[in-house]
Amino acid sequence: MAYVETYYRRRMGAASPRPPLGDCLEADVCVVGGGLAGLSTALDLTRAGRRVCVLEAERIAWGASGRNGGFVSPGYSAGVDTILRHVGADDARALHRLSVEGVQAVADNLSTLAIDAAAPVAGYLSASRYDAADELRAQRDRLERDFDYAVEFWPRERVREILLSDRYHQGLYHPRAFHFDPLAYSHGLAAEIERLGGSVFESCPVVALQIEGADHRVRTAAGEVRAKDVVIATGGYTGRLAPRLHASYLPVATYVMLTRADPDLVATAIRTPMAIGDRRRAGDYYRVVDGGERILWGGKITTRTSEPRRLADLLRRTMASTYPQLRDVQVDMAWSGLMAYARHLMPQIGALGPGLWCCTAFGGHGINTTAIGGRLIAEAITGKSDRYRLFAPFGLVWNGGLAGRAAVQAAYWALQTQDAFNERAGSRGRGVQR
Ligand SMILES: Cc1cc2nc3c(=O)[nH]c(=O)nc-3n(C[C@H](O)[C@H](O)[C@H](O)COP(=O)(O)OP(=O)(O)OC[C@H]3O[C@@H](n4cnc5c(N)ncnc54)[C@H](O)[C@@H]3O)c2cc1C
Repeated sequence: MAYVETYYRRRMGAASPRPPLGDCLEADVCVVGGGLAGLSTALDLTRAGRRVCVLEAERIAWGASGRNGGFVSPGYSAGVDTILRHVGADDARALHRLSVEGVQAVADNLSTLAIDAAAPVAGYLSASRYDAADELRAQRDRLERDFDYAVEFWPRERVREILLSDRYHQGLYHPRAFHFDPLAYSHGLAAEIERLGGSVFESCPVVALQIEGADHRVRTAAGEVRAKDVVIATGGYTGRLAPRLHASYLPVATYVMLTRADPDLVATAIRTPMAIGDRRRAGDYYRVVDGGERILWGGKITTRTSEPRRLADLLRRTMASTYPQLRDVQVDMAWSGLMAYARHLMPQIGALGPGLWCCTAFGGHGINTTAIGGRLIAEAITGKSDRYRLFAPFGLVWNGGLAGRAAVQAAYWALQTQDAFNERAGSRGRGVQR
């Protein structure tokens, strides 16, 4: 099965696929889904000495994990205040610290596994599109005071030295965040799982799950895994394997484009290799790649999962609305991917039943949180901790069916309208959700 054509895929070249499972296998844990959630879980379990088998329907990181923007920063898709309302101050603090731990876990894997192809670049600037100096300073102070997480306030002149757009005002710079190639990283994790004795199968969709005594039988087209524990990590591509899980998330599409090589034109707009996002709840995120030759630009969400016509043009026009000097830039390729969102916008990390676990619904903030999700599920299975219970208050909430989908789209449009209003009026708004 071919990967969708992305910038990362092109950089990686033609890696030969792993064969699907063709017989009956015994394992301690079977992980369904070979995205970052499944791979992170499987890696931590193999490191803990468990016999692990990963079954991926397509190819490793074929879904959101191999197509995303590559921004690695702490936090969740739900904002700090939403989390606080759900769980109170102490657990909100603990959850935020976990998300910082997730960033560190990714950084540690990059260095201990020497995944050089993932090419991490330090720094993330979250820029405001309206005058928000006081608001940003207050946010900086709160992050430092409540979460022990240091960021820098950047005044307008400093932001505009590197982002040549009069749309931007002040920003918060996150020195511990970074960006990287998520497909290369995912392949690095899969290789390490195999090196440690785990098995990874591709082109191998799981078609049925059954309980037999104390074990689970996980069936694919041509094989079967028997395992005491099963982890479902199928993200925005979750089907009906676990009906309760299927009914408690919404697949949401988001989009990325890569411009053609034009370093002179790029330099008229963006003069930094760091990751850039704006603080709108429905904002853009982008970075220059290939040594400043091209721009990788992401944004927009829809609950319609088919790709819009003229996607490249849509994203190019969005970019030109921030950087008019880039209006003639050519687009090389554009792609989409599906994210899984629960209605509460928090991950679904926990037990579905005895020996059956879920590690999914990471939304648009999935690189740090899949690392932590994998770690917590591995700790639960090995009996090392029950930290996954911090996510229990969010649970499996019905997605609302078609009406839920329409409500999410309407909420997104409302946020866009509010963002535009904030920008025009220079009035107050709150943080970005992506
Ligand atoms: C375009 C885009 C940009 C994004 N940008 C960022 C970003 O910059 N920073 C950030 O933190 N997050 C970002 N995200 C979010 C992040 O990519 C996701 O939250 C994260 O990758 C989710 O990982 P996952 O493993 O849960 O899901 P996925 O990576 O989607 O993996 C799920 C896998 O399960 C497999 N599967 C499904 N059903 C079965 C089955 N029956 N049997 C076997 N396998 C199955 C699928 O084939 C798929 O490979 C972005 C997402 C998208 C789509």
